[in-house]
Amino acid sequence: MVKDTKFYDILGVPPDASDSQLKSAYKKGALKYHPDKNAHNPEAADKFKELSHAYEVLSDRDKRTIYDQYGEEGLEQGGMGGGGMAAEDLFAQFFGGGGGPFGGMFGGGGMRDTGPKKARTISHVHKVSLEDIYRGKVSKLALQKSVICPKCDGRGGKEGAVKKCAGCDGRGMKHMMRQMGPMIQRFQTVCPDCQGEGEIIRDRDRCKQCNGKKTIIERKVLHVHVDRGVRSGHRIEFRGEGDQLPGVEPGDVVFEIEQKPHPRFQRKDDDLFYHAEIDLLTALAGGQIHIEHLDDRWLTVDVIPGECISPGEVKVIRGQGMPSYRHHDFGNLYIQFDVKFPDQLNGPDGGPMTPEQIKALESVLPPRAIPAAMPPPDAMVEDFTLDSVDPTREHARARGMANMEDEDDEMHPGAERVQCASQ
Ligand SMILES: [Zn+2]
Ligand SMILES: [Zn+2]
Repeated sequence: MVKDTKFYDILGVPPDASDSQLKSAYKKGALKYHPDKNAHNPEAADKFKELSHAYEVLSDRDKRTIYDQYGEEGLEQGGMGGGGMAAEDLFAQFFGGGGGPFGGMFGGGGMRDTGPKKARTISHVHKVSLEDIYRGKVSKLALQKSVICPKCDGRGGKEGAVKKCAGCDGRGMKHMMRQMGPMIQRFQTVCPDCQGEGEIIRDRDRCKQCNGKKTIIERKVLHVHVDRGVRSGHRIEFRGEGDQLPGVEPGDVVFEIEQKPHPRFQRKDDDLFYHAEIDLLTALAGGQIHIEHLDDRWLTVDVIPGECISPGEVKVIRGQGMPSYRHHDFGNLYIQFDVKFPDQLNGPDGGPMTPEQIKALESVLPPRAIPAAMPPPDAMVEDFTLDSVDPTREHARARGMANMEDEDDEMHPGAERVQCASQ
């Protein structure tokens, strides 16, 4: 059972279709929807691309197996999405490169008319972990590409066996006349002599390895050097390592480095940023934090007693950031501290803090600030304590201050209970 029939549906074949069924379904559709034939129908271009992509996947035994088992996602995760061929290239493979069956008939406008003839570039985004960028590595990446058939040297058959189709003069398409009542209609159709190939190869002379297609699909492994400190967006080019097609310059392969997000560090240029959560006691009275770095080292960082780290404060360890690209001096490691306050401070018996405890705190902390606003001696004064905030209740009342009910009016005058609201 296949996971997803989408590609089969696009081609209009059942999931158990044979290679030749796929092939003929693709040919039929590709000729019908080719952009050169559908200048005024933009939907045809999308259809053409869909069709080509579906065929490209299903005609490759490895890709088809993956697709059947895991669907489209499987192809992307397996890294097989990147080595795909452009719809035009696939079409050219089928119907002969250099102009294709419609070349010359529709007066330019084809994508292949621009610039020197060169197969398209295969681009692939290479996602790399921050660890690998920190240390540097060589990734071995495999791609599927078309190469000139070594058996027939890209001719499609024995020397001299490939003949330009006389029926269509090598164009693959043919003008025909048809009598429609009193009118004679002129229309074009796929050349019946060569089935749109533009060439004729006698079956017995047809190359056995490429089946007359002139190219075969080959798996190629490239060694991509991920240099230390390389940044996202950096491009690594392999000239001429891309698709080979008869009569054109081989294409290039380009890998673009993309750094994967890291669970512990954020990177900005050559600097690293780290969030450390520490408790209030460590922030005030000192202690240690431990940071696992990108090369299996652990950094032990001493917080000096009395250093008094405040919530949100940023400190730096110099030279512990990323190696800089090509120079390999190091950026800095910035640490931002979240100070975790205790929910509550208690006395030794779990009750309120004792006067001695409060005195101990007062002995090390700066004195209470004199309030900026004090009531005048003759003011009417009421006493309050603080309640904790219940977020679910607050959410309801945040919809409008006007709707606030006076349910908090039941205060507890004189109550000694004071709570440290923790954030
Ligand atoms: Zn022909
Ligand atoms: Zn061949």
